[in-house]
Amino acid sequence: MSQTPVQISLEDCRKLDADDELRAFRDEFRLPADVIYLDGNSLGALPVQTADRVVDLIELEWGRDLIRSWEANGWIGAPSRIGDKIARLVGAHVGEVIATDSTSANLFKLIVAALQARPGRQVVLSEPGNFPTDLYMIQGALAALSGGHRLELRPRDRLAEAIDHDTALVLLTHVHYKTADVFDMPEITSRAHAAGALMLWDLSHSVGAVAVDLNAARADLAVGCGYKYLNGGPGAPAFLFVAERHHQDLTSPLTGWMGHASPFDFSDAYQPAPGVRRFLCGTPSVMGLAALETGVDLLLRADMGAIAAKSAALCRLLTTLVEQECGAYGLEAIGPALGQPRGSHVSFRHPDGYAIMRALIARGVIGDFRGPDVLRFGLTPLYLGFEDVWRAVQTLRAVLADRLWDAPEYRVRTLVT
Ligand SMILES: *Cc1c(COP(=O)(O)O)cnc(C)c1O
Repeated sequence: MSQTPVQISLEDCRKLDADDELRAFRDEFRLPADVIYLDGNSLGALPVQTADRVVDLIELEWGRDLIRSWEANGWIGAPSRIGDKIARLVGAHVGEVIATDSTSANLFKLIVAALQARPGRQVVLSEPGNFPTDLYMIQGALAALSGGHRLELRPRDRLAEAIDHDTALVLLTHVHYKTADVFDMPEITSRAHAAGALMLWDLSHSVGAVAVDLNAARADLAVGCGYKYLNGGPGAPAFLFVAERHHQDLTSPLTGWMGHASPFDFSDAYQPAPGVRRFLCGTPSVMGLAALETGVDLLLRADMGAIAAKSAALCRLLTTLVEQECGAYGLEAIGPALGQPRGSHVSFRHPDGYAIMRALIARGVIGDFRGPDVLRFGLTPLYLGFEDVWRAVQTLRAVLADRLWDAPEYRVRTLVT
């Protein structure tokens, strides 16, 4: 006996908004009225307070206080201070996280440090289709070391069994950038440890969106992005995590003076700082850090459990509504099945995905496209409501039903998708 699925209505979505304990956070962001922003997983929205904070930084701290700001306005401590705040979002302790550089540069530092800490082991293990920069940075790090290491890629269902005595490092992205598939962090980490390997997690699509507990999983190393769910602004500094038990045995290959034990001794010999600060390289990017800190402070005012729960609810709604409203138009949902653990975006395959996304963007529904055929919709719990999802799906239905995407201007490829 088959049941007719219950149809979800606009009224249902409004009711979910009325019951949403995070709803007030919407007013903390500046978003254009004619846009439904479903790309916060690629560039987070602008917090209202960030513009004032950055202006103060420029006019008062830089313009008036000048070099005194390094101490008086806390510039020199910003990477550690913000790192400690991010630590609270990912289950790390004070002193284990630092905000600095790009995710790519942080990957390089940690990959090399990990390989040097596991001499005699030759393999870095990852999965095919991991985020490109992760694979590229492994390749660059191995080339720079010229120690005979090799990169091995195994599909995720055969990954755990490939970890062995020759594995130095397992490097995986916790939430997949295209599919929103999630790795079982404690499980894979313990497999790596059982074989004597180190485990590095990329949290770029996790931090600020889903529950992460690095220390509960006994993770060794992690990196993550500042401009996605942390709302730190374009090109915001990233972060890195080194578990405290490794602070003595891991050192950065980028031995810049800011990672020195006492940079202002100006001594000739490099001496790493005792803690995670040794993974700093050059002078902190103070303006970028100020915007990042504002985004992180905002996120810390919300309960991470509520964020993760709303993320799951938004994803469930979008998936169900697309099936209900757009079921006839050939979209294929990819990623975790309904109700399974997942990241905070929902993706669909369609052979005309690129043109469909361009047509959506032209109508104010901003998601993005990931080749060859994936439409991706990021669902950010802090500034997106359930009615927004309803409206986005109605626009998607119109674009598909009336073939609005089938126009030459939507086929021209842009540089950034
Ligand atoms: C966004 C993202 C990055 C970004 O790296 P950048 O160096 O900041 O450009 C890295 N890894 C993953 C998995 C990402 O999703």
